[in-house]
Amino acid sequence: MSSDFIRQLVYKFNCNAPKYDEYYVLIHTYMCQFLYVSLEICCYFFLSCGKIVIRDFFRGEDLQEEDYVNFIKLDSTVAEKRKRINRIKMAIIIIIIVMMLLPTILCIVLGVQVSRLQENVNDLMEIHGRVEQPINITKGKENYAYAAEKPDSDKADKQEENQKENIDAAEPSKENLNLSESDQRQRKHAVKSNQASADAFDASKSSDSRDGIYAGKTVYLTFDDGPSIYTNDILDILAEYDVKATFFVIGKTDDESKEAYRRIVEEGHTIGMHSYSHNYNQIYKSIEDFDKDFTNLWDLLYDIIGYRLKIYRFPGGSANQVNPDGMEKFIRYLNDKSVVYFDWNVENKDATGIRYTKEELIDNVLTDVARKKRSIVLMHDSSAKGTTVESLAELIETLLSEGASILPLTQEVPPIQQIEADSIE
Ligand SMILES: [Zn+2]
Repeated sequence: MSSDFIRQLVYKFNCNAPKYDEYYVLIHTYMCQFLYVSLEICCYFFLSCGKIVIRDFFRGEDLQEEDYVNFIKLDSTVAEKRKRINRIKMAIIIIIIVMMLLPTILCIVLGVQVSRLQENVNDLMEIHGRVEQPINITKGKENYAYAAEKPDSDKADKQEENQKENIDAAEPSKENLNLSESDQRQRKHAVKSNQASADAFDASKSSDSRDGIYAGKTVYLTFDDGPSIYTNDILDILAEYDVKATFFVIGKTDDESKEAYRRIVEEGHTIGMHSYSHNYNQIYKSIEDFDKDFTNLWDLLYDIIGYRLKIYRFPGGSANQVNPDGMEKFIRYLNDKSVVYFDWNVENKDATGIRYTKEELIDNVLTDVARKKRSIVLMHDSSAKGTTVESLAELIETLLSEGASILPLTQEVPPIQQIEADSIE
């Protein structure tokens, strides 16, 4: 087993509080079953052994009387029987050891498999959240999805803009079937006002006039699903380049995770919430469940870092379709608490189920950053995303050397939202 594998295993079993109970129950069940079988086999052997000893005892008495004269013969018979009993004893001990070892090994293997499956499920849920909805990522540019985003001024984007207007004019209802006309008017108005404010904001923050192909562009690096075994590595790399980023964290209560939450804040990064459990079906089941999950994380982080967080990222994005009734009530909930939520318009695709190489992850980001004025980049900080960490230094280096400004998200940053908060009353 590689050390990385053992690290992951230890981390899963010690630190992942919300999932720990599930693994514990599963492993406990298997342990009980195997111990029960082991015990049964042991009892059987002890009884067999006991039977032999009792039989030998009485036969020994008989033999003593029958062969009283022939001591040598008797002695050799007894020695032979002792040998046999010793062999049986040895066999019993070996069987017991094997029976103890087997379930232990099996439990570890099963535990690892469960944790891997859980990660796969999380990845698939992320994809499910994105792929299911037409308004997201792939078609997002043609509708209100990235309302706060202003396309870059190069040719390609102008074409995109024209296409967008044509599509909007020609088939206003195709992708916005569920939106009333007034909703759409509101959103178009929001696009204009948000673009202006986003531009003004970026201009005020990125005052340095650097050269390069990304000059004048603002990039917000965001890491979801942490803290993990990689959080410290990510923070080290960010510190090395003196770059601030945003961590959308989930709820963990072990000491290492608490230390990670604190370090994120102490080093000047932004910490945002990304649900306590990250279990889509549980979080989006009802507004009561959402409230419970949100409050758990809100309180946990308040206890650790000492203030109430006001930044959130919906697991699966604000336009996910986990709840068939839509996201309105959850968005309204955050609006009522004055919590801003951020989606993304660029991703390194480390959660798409495809195992991209380090170079491909970088390329996935840079290709989209080149086409946008401001980019909120989705990446992941979880134990299965080692390649993202490997790619980070080179990504930051390229962005900085080509003139991009890398900034953390704050409550004041005009958000990129797949469903705009302002559109929900
Ligand atoms: Zn997530």
